[in-house]
Amino acid sequence: MSELPKETVHRTYIVHGAMPRMVTPDLAWVGGCASSGGYPTGNIGGEARQISHDPCVAYVIMGSQKTIMVDPGHFGLWYSADGQLDAVLKGRQLDYVYVSHQEIPHTGNLGRLLQKYPGAVALGDVRDYHLFHPEVDLDRLQPMKHGDKVSLGDRDIVFLDAIWKDLSGTMYVYDTKLKLMYTPDIFGHIHYEHENVCSTMLHEMPDDLAESIMKRPGIGPIYGLKARDQKLRAQAFRNMLKKYPVEIITSGHCSPIMGPRLQPVIDRILAVADSLPRGLDFSSIF
Ligand SMILES: [Zn+2]
Ligand SMILES: [Zn+2]
Repeated sequence: MSELPKETVHRTYIVHGAMPRMVTPDLAWVGGCASSGGYPTGNIGGEARQISHDPCVAYVIMGSQKTIMVDPGHFGLWYSADGQLDAVLKGRQLDYVYVSHQEIPHTGNLGRLLQKYPGAVALGDVRDYHLFHPEVDLDRLQPMKHGDKVSLGDRDIVFLDAIWKDLSGTMYVYDTKLKLMYTPDIFGHIHYEHENVCSTMLHEMPDDLAESIMKRPGIGPIYGLKARDQKLRAQAFRNMLKKYPVEIITSGHCSPIMGPRLQPVIDRILAVADSLPRGLDFSSIF
């Protein structure tokens, strides 16, 4: 666990609502939120600002034969993730752990997961994970490249080169049965604590609440890339969605986006990428 006092960690990395949730019988949504109200430096903007939550979530997909965790999750939430995994796996073993990229909110729990599930293998662009985890046997770090897949029995999990990379090792994954794509840092949305939507999906909210949350992206695919034209990447993402059609799209910073909210959310983020003039600060768009 972190060396920070437990109270500090639990005040910042919170689990509200009904997490973990079974989105479908074979898809578990786990994790919680990072709360600005718990930051040791105080709420950003002072007490006058509303306390905001940045979701820090992950998924477990239960195939007919094998299981996979879609990102190990934030290390600050391990105190809860441990029990959440027991609750959703119900005695099944974890066979695979997909690692999206080398960043604490996404893969901070990898070492603990591999310890908890001795049969599990980490999959992804794992070229440097032995440096973070010298304690892990090298045969438990399996490199995947674009188009590689693993079978869970009733579906494949396909590994895809990321169109937008947060770090060099970023990969997306696609579930061929659920038609789910996980894009670690796109589609994130911040919500306010008083909105009480930590475990609520956009299509379960009233229209006005969903609309206001969709206008508050937690992180954008083009953040930090303002010096580059994003039209080609937006088109590459559209092409990827033609080859891998989605019914659920999600990330480490949002709920599963599905149903009537799916296409509007995709259209909105791609419209921003299409229209962003080179040199314009992303943050000024919203
Ligand atoms: Zn992230
Ligand atoms: Zn929340």
